This record gives sequence, C-alpha cells and structure tokens, in this order.
Amino acid sequence: MIYKVPFVNFPEHYKRIKDEIDFAIKEVLLGGDYILRKHLKEFEENFAKFLGVKYAIGVGSGTDALYLSLKAAGINQGDEVITVAHTFVATIASIIHCGAKPILVDIGEDYNMDVEKVEEVITNKTKAIIPVHLNGRLCDMKRLMEIASKYNLIIIEDAAQALGASLDGVKAGTFGLTGCFSFYPAKILGGLGDGGMVVTNNKDVAEKILLLRDHGQKREIGEILCYGFNSRLDNLQAAVLNVKLKYVPKWIERRREIAKLYHQALSNITKLKLPPPPMNGRFYDVYQNYVIRAKRRDELVKHLMREGIEVLISWPKPLHKHEALGLSNFHLPMTEQISKEVVSLPIYPELSNNDVNFVIQAIQTFYK
Ligand SMILES: *Cc1c(COP(=O)(O)O)cnc(C)c1O
Repeated sequence: MIYKVPFVNFPEHYKRIKDEIDFAIKEVLLGGDYILRKHLKEFEENFAKFLGVKYAIGVGSGTDALYLSLKAAGINQGDEVITVAHTFVATIASIIHCGAKPILVDIGEDYNMDVEKVEEVITNKTKAIIPVHLNGRLCDMKRLMEIASKYNLIIIEDAAQALGASLDGVKAGTFGLTGCFSFYPAKILGGLGDGGMVVTNNKDVAEKILLLRDHGQKREIGEILCYGFNSRLDNLQAAVLNVKLKYVPKWIERRREIAKLYHQALSNITKLKLPPPPMNGRFYDVYQNYVIRAKRRDELVKHLMREGIEVLISWPKPLHKHEALGLSNFHLPMTEQISKEVVSLPIYPELSNNDVNFVIQAIQTFYK
C-alpha cells in the first residue's frame, strides 16, 4: 500500500543529499576500499568527536555493539544483567548470548527504566545494568550512575535510539563504560543497511572491542590474541554515514520542530498522553520516535491507516510475554499497560509541515 504519509521515507532522504552520497560511494568503489579502510577510521574519529569521547569503534550492528560491549566488560555465564522489557529484543538477546541472565525491571511514564526499581533486584550475581534511552530521551542516568557506583556495577548504555540526546549537557552513550549505537536505516543516523558503533573512554575496553570485532587479530603485530567475531562496520557504510553525520544536528532540530507541532495541536485531547515537548531544560530529547498513549488505540491505528497515515506500534506484545524467550517469570505492570496504549506517529526530517498537519487533523477527527 502507498501511504500519503509513510512512517519513513528513505527515497526522499536519499534524494536530498544524493550528490554527496553518490560521490562517497564512488570514491570507495574506485579505491577498492572495502574493509577497515580510511573511511571507517575517519567516520570513527568524527563520531567520537561528535560525542566528545576518546574511542569509537565501528561494528556490524547495534546488536553487536551491545554484545561485544558485554563481552569486553567480562560478562559471563552466571552473571546477572539488569535491563527492561520495553525495548527492542536485541538488548536482551545480547545478555543471553553472553550466557548471562537478564533481570527485567519495569518502566516509568517516560517509557524508560524505572531506576527506583533497580536496587531491589540487585543480588551478589549482578554485574551490569543496560539502560535503554528509548525514543530519543535519556533514562534518569544521574540516579542510575549513583546506584551503579554504590554497588560497583558496570553500565552499558543502549543508546541506539538516542544519538545526540543529552541530560544536564551529558550526551547519551557517554555515561557508561560503553555506549552502543545503531545505524539501522530508520535510526536518526541510518546507513544503507546494518551497522553499529561502540563508544568508550576506557582504553582497555576499546582495545578489546577492536580485537573482538576482527577475529581477535592484532594485525600490526601479526598475532591472534583471542577468539573473536567478524563484526566490522563496512568501509562503504562508514563513508556514507560520515557524509550524513554532519547533518545530524539539523535533522534533530527538525525532529524537535515536528514534536513541537504535534504537541501544540494534540495536547488538549484528553484521550491522549503525549511525550514532553522539546524544552531547553535538563533533558535534550532527539525524538527518534514520537510515541503517544491513546485511548481506543487499536481503533485509532485503523483510522489513521485508512486515512493513508502509516503508524507503528512498538511493541504490541511485551518481550516477557513471548513464550520462546523464557522470560515469563517477570511481572511488569507498566510495561504491559503501555503496550496496549502506545502508537508511534511519523517523525523524520523529510516530513513537511503539511504532512504533520494531515496527521494532526486525522487524529483530531477521530476523537471529535
Ligand atoms: C535498533 C535498536 C537496537 C539494535 O540495533 P541493530 O543495529 O538493529 O542491531 C538495539 N536497541 C534498541 C533500543 C534499538 O532501537
């Protein structure tokens, strides 16, 4: 089906910077630069600069960024790692693949980990916490860092949805031992396929991830220092992402403008709960998603789809309710409640004010 307002618009996104992208691709192809070449190095340096961290290491995906971070942090069989169920399944999968046990806590009104619930699940097996900065808003990292330091726990941030977001001026991904980013095409900085990044200020961890992503090889000395994986960010992806990175601040500003338009027009509908509008307060939100909580959600979704507006539900069934995942022992009332109410509206820089108004009017009509 062709939507009047699609949930993402990759062709339009490409067209606006086509010449630069085409030039970058051509340069890579004509140079024969595919694996671990200069474009990757350049992109890693620029990405590190963007966040103000010492090291950025390009990997195969956001999922691998999480998994390799846990590995590099020494997470192992028998360890417990605290995270949330209201996230993409990859967050939990990365814990499972280390042989560790995910411990799930509930979320708050901000869709993020309810940090006041963390202390009660800490045991002597707890090694790490993975906060997820969902929808482009930071989790309460100030409080979480206090808890982590009190119990000597490692923080690995799932910042896949929060590139450029900050709390008290500190950027997502720079609080923890590592920060993990995704370049999945629909993310704020999206590639032409899969890709991810680990950032850290810790030299040992950076070196470990460099090894793990490339078969354990230390190429400079011709030694294999451990069993690793094949999870390198493609040089071609890096070249394209490097072109896009400089537009990220502008793209975030446009996302915030759209969030403001939604907020101004929808905040008087009592059947809806909206995310906080963009403010110049402690939180700088980047609106990877614009998620509202709606009464009669499923009817609203049908109505919008019929009007030609593509919306998304993330996620209709909480992860701990998927039997095959073996997480059914967790009881998470807010996570379960929210999964019945949330719907994500289209939000991306290429969306015009007309598109936004069209979405707004369709929602207003539904609740009239
Ligand atoms: C996208 C995403 C991931 C996974 O990233 P991939 O690059 O798709 O592997 C992990 N966590 C969250 C919260 C995400 O949104």
